[in-house]
Amino acid sequence: MELNDAFAQLPTPCYVVDEALLIKNLKILKQIQDRTGAHILLAQKAFSMFAMYPLMGEYLAGTTASGLFEAKLGYEEMGKENHVFSTAYLESEFTEIVSICDHIVFNSFNQWQKYKDQALAGNRDCGIRINPGCSTQDHAIYDPCATGSRLGVAARQFRPDLLEGISGLHFHTLCEQNADALELTLAAVEEQFGPFLQQLKWLNFGGGHHITRPDYDIEKLISSITRMQKKYDLRIYLEPGEAVALNTGFLVATVLDIVDNDIEIAILDTSAACHMPDVLEMPYRPEIIGAALPEEKPFTYRLGGPTCLAGDIIGDYSFAQPLKIGDRLVFCDMAHYSMVKNNTFNGMNLPSIAIFTQAKNIRMVRQFGYEDFKNRLS
Ligand SMILES: *Cc1c(COP(=O)(O)O)cnc(C)c1O
Repeated sequence: MELNDAFAQLPTPCYVVDEALLIKNLKILKQIQDRTGAHILLAQKAFSMFAMYPLMGEYLAGTTASGLFEAKLGYEEMGKENHVFSTAYLESEFTEIVSICDHIVFNSFNQWQKYKDQALAGNRDCGIRINPGCSTQDHAIYDPCATGSRLGVAARQFRPDLLEGISGLHFHTLCEQNADALELTLAAVEEQFGPFLQQLKWLNFGGGHHITRPDYDIEKLISSITRMQKKYDLRIYLEPGEAVALNTGFLVATVLDIVDNDIEIAILDTSAACHMPDVLEMPYRPEIIGAALPEEKPFTYRLGGPTCLAGDIIGDYSFAQPLKIGDRLVFCDMAHYSMVKNNTFNGMNLPSIAIFTQAKNIRMVRQFGYEDFKNRLS
């Protein structure tokens, strides 16, 4: 079948990830690894659809995690390199982290001193996250270099005297950025931390590289990687999340009702607050197949979720035909930062999760129900 047939047949709401589109992204990432020798890891925080981990593992070097649970998922479902960075580790979890993670990155020298013996006894590669203080965007909520940031050690707090046992540095300062932002950041890293790079084995460039976006300057990324490799004799890691799953998934929804209050409002069986929280948090406007900006096409509607939240509004969209109850809408680019951020506010069910396979079939991988809602509560 074609993808459009899948959109018509799936139960809604449903996320569907197109395997062929994911492979397209993975090939771009693999080509960068092949040309540079850098290792590219999936940042699971953005996309933890583990049904796809065996496929992603064919192209990527492994996974990175924000803590024990993601680390376990990567270990169990991909089983390749397994890195972890946490702003602060829990004592109760650290033994297990050491048992499954090959690279452990610390956010402060306090944390490093606290866990150093345990991590080194486990023969793990340890790193410090640095903060080069180089903001390349003005979205403060996504800027780890903003004033007062808790993420990474700033140059003035850096402790060269405590570097024994540290094999790498890590920075993560970009968000949806092109390679020019990486170049600026690397210049800041070299200026502030350059003297220490010589004595280390690896440098992790973090995530936020929007590598699979059509206008991304891949050649500039490659030259940045090779320059740092040659100059300092380092292994380079990248850990994109969003770029792995960018433009690979859809959220299919159904129109449940249409009401009129100065503007026509379509109420859907999907919720911005529960199923696409970044629409409210980022905020951004998701594309819908066949729809346009308000008033561009003859019939404009405000699209809202079924929850009680007045602000559960996805946005205003126009259509060539009037919407009818029962119509389906397909939201684009819904694979990353969607499933991982879902919640069951208002007792909303979670969208099903399906794959549109390379063989052009639907593979329903997960459907949720009342028990999933109840199990998170007590
Ligand atoms: C969020 C995050 C990533 C992934 O970022 P994307 O913007 O999804 O590429 C990678 N590393 C760390 C430490 C992060 O916090």
